[in-house]
Parts: sequence; C-alpha cells; structure tokens
Amino acid sequence: MKTQVKALVVGGGAVGTSIAYHLARAGWDDVMLLERDELTSGSTWHAAGLLPYFNMSFATTHIHDYSIKFYKTLEEETGLNAGFAVVGNLRMAQTNERMEEYMLYASTAETCGVPYQWMTPDEVKAKWPLIRTEDLKGAIYHQTDGYINPADVTMAMAKGARQRGVVIERKWQADAFHWNGEAWEVTVTKMVEKGGNLIPSDEQVVITAEHVVTASGNHAQRTAQMLGIKMPAIPVEHQFIVMDSDPELVKFRAEGNVEHPVIRDADAQSYVREERGGWILGVYEPNAPARFEYGVPDSFRADLFQLDLDRIEDQYMAMNHRIPSAEDCGLKDDFNGPICYTPDGNPLVGPAPGLRNMWLAEGFSFGITAAGGTGYYLAQLMVEGEAEIDMASLDPKRYGDWMTTEFAARKNEEAYEHVYILHHPDEERPACRPLRTSPAYDRQAARGAQFGWTNGWERPNYYAPEGFNDHESRSFRRGGWWQYAVDEAKAVREGVGLIDATAFTKHLVKGPGATAFLDWFTCNKLPNVGRINLTYALTGAGTTRTEYTIVRLAQDEYYLVSAGGWTAYDSDYLRKAIEDKAPELGYIECHDVTTQWGVFAIAGPKSRDVLREVIKDANPDTALSNKRFPWLTMRNIELGMVPVRAIRVAYTGELGWELHHPIEMQNHLFDLLEKAGEKHGMKLVGARAQNWLRQEKSYRAFGTELGRDATPLEADLPRFVNMDKDFHGKQAMAEHGIKAKCVTLLIDGPDDADPWGREVLYHGDTRVGRLTSGGYSVAFGKSIGMGYVKPETAVVGTKLKVKMFDQLWDAEIVEDSPYDPKNATIRVDG
Ligand SMILES: Cc1cc2nc3c(=O)[nH]c(=O)nc-3n(C[C@H](O)[C@H](O)[C@H](O)COP(=O)(O)OP(=O)(O)OC[C@H]3O[C@@H](n4cnc5c(N)ncnc54)[C@H](O)[C@@H]3O)c2cc1C
Repeated sequence: MKTQVKALVVGGGAVGTSIAYHLARAGWDDVMLLERDELTSGSTWHAAGLLPYFNMSFATTHIHDYSIKFYKTLEEETGLNAGFAVVGNLRMAQTNERMEEYMLYASTAETCGVPYQWMTPDEVKAKWPLIRTEDLKGAIYHQTDGYINPADVTMAMAKGARQRGVVIERKWQADAFHWNGEAWEVTVTKMVEKGGNLIPSDEQVVITAEHVVTASGNHAQRTAQMLGIKMPAIPVEHQFIVMDSDPELVKFRAEGNVEHPVIRDADAQSYVREERGGWILGVYEPNAPARFEYGVPDSFRADLFQLDLDRIEDQYMAMNHRIPSAEDCGLKDDFNGPICYTPDGNPLVGPAPGLRNMWLAEGFSFGITAAGGTGYYLAQLMVEGEAEIDMASLDPKRYGDWMTTEFAARKNEEAYEHVYILHHPDEERPACRPLRTSPAYDRQAARGAQFGWTNGWERPNYYAPEGFNDHESRSFRRGGWWQYAVDEAKAVREGVGLIDATAFTKHLVKGPGATAFLDWFTCNKLPNVGRINLTYALTGAGTTRTEYTIVRLAQDEYYLVSAGGWTAYDSDYLRKAIEDKAPELGYIECHDVTTQWGVFAIAGPKSRDVLREVIKDANPDTALSNKRFPWLTMRNIELGMVPVRAIRVAYTGELGWELHHPIEMQNHLFDLLEKAGEKHGMKLVGARAQNWLRQEKSYRAFGTELGRDATPLEADLPRFVNMDKDFHGKQAMAEHGIKAKCVTLLIDGPDDADPWGREVLYHGDTRVGRLTSGGYSVAFGKSIGMGYVKPETAVVGTKLKVKMFDQLWDAEIVEDSPYDPKNATIRVDG
C-alpha cells in the first residue's frame, strides 16, 4: 500500500469519489481514495438517484448544473453507463403562492442559464394523462434533468479516477489524523468481516498526505471527533417505497409514450418516478428522527431502518390522489435510510476550522445531485486556491463553536421537514430558538421585535404591534411586515432609529507585528490612531474574502468589525494568516471579542440630539460636534454609566454612531437610550429596514455584493483599494480583471412586491446579470436593488429589465449612492 500521497480522500461514496476524480482531472497525479467498506456502501447505494436542478441558491444551482452536465459525459469517458434517465422533472403547484415560489426560483435559475419551461394543468394532463391535474395551478418543467443510478455513477467516476491515476483502497478505515507541521499522518486500519460486522483488524499503516479531504457521509461525527472539530452533519431518516407494477402505467408506456418525468408534488411533500412499470414514492414528512448523533454503530453497514408507514401515510394518500392508478398497486420494496443533513440543508464544503490542508465535504442531503459539482469546485479550491463560484454559503465555518450535537440534531430534523415547505425569502425557521440572545432580547421582544436568525443570534428583523403573526405575514410579495419596515426606514431618514447590531463579528488584533500584518492583509490604507477605515481582506485569487471596518485603537492595536454571524469563518482566515506572517512580521495577538461587545447603531438626523442627552462630558454640547467627533473616527465616550467605544459611521447612510459597549451593560444602555429617545420620537429599527437603507447608499453587503467570486474592483470599490501598497491578492486582483461590475438600480416593479436580490437582469433580450440585493426605497418611493452586470452594461442611465413573477419590469442603473451622494447628511455638524 502506498504510504505517501499528495491528497488522501476519505470516503468512497458519490461525493468522495467525485472529489478524487476531479483532483486528478485538475492535475494532481498522486491521489488516493480510502473506503472503510465497499464503494457506495454508505448512503449512496440506497439513494433514489434523482438529480433535481431546483434549489434557491446561486452557488448550489451552479453545483447541480455542473453535475447534470458532467454525468452525461461519463459514459464516453469511461465506457460505463451511469444509468442517467433524462426524463425531466415536473414540479407541480397546488397554490398560487407555490407558483410564485417557482417564479422566484426560475429567475435565479436563469441567472445560471438553467433551462425550464412553464406548463398549465391542461398541458400536463395532455402529456401525462395518468396525473390528476384539476386542483393544480401550474407546473415548472426541467427537460434536462432526471434520475441516475447512484451506484453506477459512482463506479463510473471511480473508473474515471483510476484511469487518471487515482489509487482506490477499499476496506481501510482512517482512524487518526496527525498534522506534523507539513503534512497529515493518517493512521489507517484494515477492516475485516466478522459475524456480518465490519471490524478493525490489527493491521495498521500510516499514510502521509499533503492534503486530506473527508467525505465520510453518515460517519461525520466520528470524523469530527478525530479531527477535534465540530460539524453539524447528522443524518435523519429518509424513506421511499417502491410499488408493484401499475397496469395503467404499463399500458401507457406500451402505447409508445415516453417515461414520466420525476413528478414533484411539493405541496404534498413527495416525489414520484417510474420504476419498472410501477412507481417509486419518496417523501419529506414531518417527525423523521435524527440518527447516529454519536456515531454509526459497527453493526450498521449498507443497512436500512425499519419502514415507518404511519409516518408517511398522508403523503401516500396524497400520491394516490395525484396518480389515481397507483392506488391499487401493492408495496414491492421499501427504503428507510440515513440521509445526512445540516441545519440549513447545505453541505459543509471547504477548509476545516483551525486545521491546515484539511478539507471537508460532509453533510450532503442531495449528495448524488451535488457530487459532480462539489468535486469540480472543491478541486478548484484546493488546486488553484479559489473556486470560480463563491463557496461561502457551503463553508464548514458558517457554524461556530457554540454549535452542539443537540442543536444540530434538532435543526437537521427541521431542515429535512422543510424541504418542501414554501421557501419564502422572508422565512425564519423556529427550531432551537432562542439560543444566542443579546441581553436586550427580552426588552426588544416586549416591544414587539420579530427576530431573525443569524448564525444562532437573535436579531430583530422589525417591530410589530402585539398579536402580529410573523409566520402568517410571509410572502413572495411584500409581506404583512412590509409597512412596519417602511415606517422604521422613514424614522431613520427623518428622525432617529436604534438598531441592534450585536451580532457583528469583532476581533482585536494587536502586538508589534499587527500594523505590518494588517497592512499586508487588507487592501485599503490603514487608519491613523482614533480613526476608522473600510477595507477588504482578499483571497489569494484577488477576490473579496471579508469586509472589515478597522478601528485603530493605538499604534499597534486594532479593532476589526466584520459581518454579523460570520465569526468562525472570519476568525479562521485571520488566525491562519497571522500564524503564517507572524514569524516574519513580529508577534501578533488575535482575540475574537464578538461576545464581549454589544453594539447599538443609532442613526438619523436627530441621533446627535438623543446622544447629547446622555453623554457625560465636560462639554456635552460640543462632544459630538464635527470638530470633536468627526465622521469616520472613534472616541471612547461615556453614556450614563456605560463606557462606550463610539464609532461615527452609519450603515444606513444617515448621521449616526455605532455604540460598542460591554455586553453586560447592554440593558442599562438600552434603557438610557430609550428614555432619552422618547422626546425625539426615536424608533426601534430592525435589520430589514436597515437592509433597504444601505442600498439607497449603495453600501455593499457581505454575502450578497461582496464575496469570493468578485474582486473589490468588480464590486466597484476602487476608493477602498490602495494600489500604492502591496497587499495580499493584489496581483491576482489585477490579473483577474473586470468581468462584471456592481451597480445600483431603481426599479419600477409590481405595486405589491420588491425584488429579493436573486432575480435575473436583461438588457433588451440579452441576459446581462443578476440582482444580489433588493428591497424598497423610502427615499425614492419605489423598489431598489443592487447587482452585477457585464462591465459594458454598467453605465449610469442604462435601462434594464428585472424578471419578477415571470414578467420583465423596468429598472435603471443609477449613480452610486443615489440617496445623498455627497454624504452631506452623514457629515452634518451640530
Ligand atoms: C432513502 C434515500 C434516498 C435518497 N435519494 C436521493 C436522491 O434521489 N438524490 C440525491 O441527490 N440524494 C439522495 N439521497 C442522499 C444521498 O444518498 C446522499 O446525499 C449521498 O449518498 C451522500 O454521499 P456521500 O459520498 O457524502 O456519503 P456516503 O455515500 O455515505 O459515503 C461516505 C463513505 O465514507 C466511508 N467512510 C466513512 N468514514 C470513513 C473512514 N474513517 N475511513 C474510510 N471510509 C470512511 C463510508 O463507509 C461511506 O462509504 C438519498 C438518501 C436516502 C437515505
């Protein structure tokens, strides 16, 4: 057995096999794949093999798109038929709301060039008469996807991988990982059969690998333990049943008709496809339990759980309603297997937290669909340093150390149950909440706060009167909450508002090497002591990794504020970079102080008046004046008895301050500000209004406009990039060029809806880009959005169209910061 490789992939399911294949295809010629049992013996063998395009994310759509195209090429490459039945996929809607969900999805699909077609119930009936359609509103049909044989596609990828030099070792289990400073030493154990179980033998080998990828499927918890990290990848039971042949179906096919597409009755939580003259019914039912929270028992190999028919009775009856001829078909076979989940349903793909050259590809619930694309993009990330799509929404570090087994298990059950719920863009899921609350949570709740979830934190989305039901207010159009957000946004523009921004990520970086390090790590000029700057840390490929507001507290001491909820993601990148550079630049300390500091943002023309009421200063009248407290500076002030690190910036683009305070004093500060604000009509304001307001100022947001698929120059932020200095990613950024450009648009959309930031943009008949943010502008009285278009289109005054609800609506590219372009209100003196 080889004991030295460049990359070792652990796990021979669809995902691991695809990764090994793509690493070899990307040019790594020394790749080994390790499987503790047989290839496909995890969840892969019992998957139903459906390859749905449908999902609501830009990155995942790219991943699925790649898989579907790639699987079609495998037979030519390997001579093995992967059993890809391109029967299409028919997703039906029983309600108008469901159709609106499909329309939002379709607009996203178009941004990735994924083809689809609308069908009326009559058209469905005419083509597939066995389907009952009188209660349908319509359907969306993908002609180019279908289903595949999961084992065959894995074997085809394995053959392709071997042809490219990958060594596949079966019956070897990775049992321990040790990083020796340069490579991983992986202890692997020969597995043997005993009494039907697979158990470790005494034979062990140590394999040295420069890189390790884990794709261990249902064994993720064991893998996490061995690595000393946390992963919220825990399987949930998932069932499908295979029915005896349906005479009506057999007749239909005998008449020369083509196979039915995969039929998805989302409102009935089920999918159906043909199987040898009968049907397969799969369901996403409520109350499916999580399994293997503490690891997979030795006795569970390529096994299944007991079928629980009672749990899926409603969905079974609903299928008989949809396909009446299925009613008399007997049950031929059943599958109840573990399907790995994560709390948000997305897999965990990317660098492991805190570890070098350790890559995770875990938690796949649509692993057959995602395997191809995951292999392709992860190989890009590993071989080239970055992938062409932004993988942040899949990054394993989107969950932090606060995450526990109980949280992951309950949240994963919820994610499973939510597969077919209406995915309102303003959806908030209830499980495991509240969990991470700032001290003012109870006060905010008492004042009507409707909370959103950001990486565990509860953050007010908006405030509503007593008795208001957020769940019932959700919509693909303007939800019932819309007017409250409008009132809050107006309060900031015309009076004063108080926003809780405690979830911000905060780091303290200090020490003799800190200045040289941050100068290299970020692309803008570092601020002087007492001042702040907006800046970006880039990836090695020159794209945006993180946006920071940097406050220089002292000569070699900096306070870094970055996006709310992305603490582990930002921390990991920062710490690893410090570790790399400290030997050269000098000692640097880095502390994650996120949970030590609360943050309130006070904003609006009257914000100074409110603060003046409570500031303790020899001369309160001038303490907040432009002279003593200029824009883009930080001052340590005292508000009542609270020491506050006040920063004169406002993400809303209005006169304002961020008030960073010791978190244990938050309630005292809240009461103080609330009382002082009464006289000035101060309103509590949530994240939704803030999100609209920042678009009026063209402030880019992390995760939407800012990500690893665009450089800061493409985000059109040259004023924050100092080309006179050397910084990480500078050359790559220049070489990347400008492939797309960020613009702000004012939109004449429908009377009752705003874009959500996922819609496709057209210039005439040509697709030119996509929105990344959307909302309503109180300043302009119409919809607003930000997005990326082709550089030649990014010209102020250009008229575009936004696709919403399957119609094209007028939009115009406007000057950046259409509200107060000269920043007069932010800088106003007083
Ligand atoms: C009933 C059912 C139906 C499904 N239908 C679909 C579908 O239609 N479409 C779809 O896309 N997905 C479907 N899925 C989900 C799909 O099966 C999984 O997402 C997919 O198989 C995950 O692949 P994987 O490679 O990540 O994991 P697995 O297939 O579980 O592979 C992981 C492998 O790692 C090995 N391993 C673990 N630890 C070690 C170690 N320490 N050393 C060596 N080897 C190790 C295991 O033995 C295993 O073979 C379904 C799942 C179920 C349960």
